[in-house]
Amino acid sequence: MPQWVVDNANWVARDLAHVWHPCTQMKDHESVPMIPLRSGKGVWLEDHAGKRYIDGISSWWVNLFGHANPRIGSAVTEQLGRLEHAIFAGFTHEPAVTLAEQLVSLAPPGLNRCFFADNGSAAIEVAVKMSFHFWRNTGKSRKTRFITLANSYHGETLGALAVGNVDLYKSIYKPLLMDVITAPSPDAYPREPGVSEAEHARRQFAAMDALLAEHHDTVAAVIAEPLVQCAGGMRMYDPVYLQLLREACDRHGVHLIADEIAVGFGRTGTMFACEQAGIRPDYLCLSKGLTGGYLPLSVVLTTDDIYAAFYDEYVKLNAFLHSHSYTGNPLACAAANATLAIFRDEPWLERNRATARHLLASVDHLRAHPHVAEIRQRGMILAIELVKDRATRAPWPFEERRGLRIYRHALERGALIRPLGTTIYFMPPYGGAFAEGETLARIATEGVELACA
Ligand SMILES: *Cc1c(COP(=O)(O)O)cnc(C)c1O
Repeated sequence: MPQWVVDNANWVARDLAHVWHPCTQMKDHESVPMIPLRSGKGVWLEDHAGKRYIDGISSWWVNLFGHANPRIGSAVTEQLGRLEHAIFAGFTHEPAVTLAEQLVSLAPPGLNRCFFADNGSAAIEVAVKMSFHFWRNTGKSRKTRFITLANSYHGETLGALAVGNVDLYKSIYKPLLMDVITAPSPDAYPREPGVSEAEHARRQFAAMDALLAEHHDTVAAVIAEPLVQCAGGMRMYDPVYLQLLREACDRHGVHLIADEIAVGFGRTGTMFACEQAGIRPDYLCLSKGLTGGYLPLSVVLTTDDIYAAFYDEYVKLNAFLHSHSYTGNPLACAAANATLAIFRDEPWLERNRATARHLLASVDHLRAHPHVAEIRQRGMILAIELVKDRATRAPWPFEERRGLRIYRHALERGALIRPLGTTIYFMPPYGGAFAEGETLARIATEGVELACA
């Protein structure tokens, strides 16, 4: 047997003996291959057998400029020689200060204050706690609840899970979770024929407005994923919803938390999705692409007014004491600074417009497919909705796991495409060539045929 076959099998056996993987029914690996990666370069991942895979989903939406990016790599290496980590209470360092300055200058004007954490869920916890705590510090201690959108996803820790709404991840843990108020999603997919996405968003907003009118006395904040509900199946909606939401939150004295953990850093075509609605949230949560996909880091940006409500004599016990050991990690901040420098020096938002058009064109032939209900796109996120019956849009029963057939087929053909249920999507790193986009489209097309057979 060739050495590389032995190498691959060896790593898989050793992994399956001791490792427990995220978002996985481990029994699946009795038949679904586990891929032991050896290296990555650009949009490609390579396993120990030397087989290469196009990373069609940016390794769970984190990677921006490809794997083993020399500029981000050397920034981290340089920082590694200077300061790997230090306590971030009472101490600071150049990478964190620079990053805070850069983020404030990029974000919607007025978000002047950065609170760091180390993953997306933790950023959500920070925003939720901070909003509740703000109202308490300002004498509105009845404001303890949150309004969330149906089909939203905000992470897996208990607070983040509570304000999310994807049943697959949430329902089992319900007894552990705080109670939230759920408004209908503005998701444009189920709109009636002849209704524009904007009109649908306005109609869906009526229920949110009614909930705010009824509950504003006890509600601290509304939380939403701007423009794309990613984990909820890459469901997309019109920016007018965010404008109406911003205006209503102001009118009712309720905060707005924008979770741009997945959609931030250019994924939807603008640096932040909120820009397309021209709004400024009270809390902007960022992670994933923040470090270019290099290291775990997250941040919550907020306003001077909110910051001021915590700024007081120590003995009043008004301070925001939330902390994580690795808050503001210098290596992660260095990766983030290099990522933002790439955005400054190279016109990626512009380049992505051409890539996005090309991606859409390469799957256009699927529009007529009898099991494709919709193809939708926002910038560098493209989704193909597969259904059992195109006329009624009846979905495939989840037990049939048709998306898994696509995943497996793609691996065989050298691509990482990991459908959400039967929603196939591409969210590739930005540096990919058109040729690789076409390969993804070709493999997805074969996958559609296999899955719908
Ligand atoms: C991934 C994600 C999170 C959670 O981030 P983690 O780093 O995985 O904890 C929160 N919100 C959205 C919109 C996400 O896509």
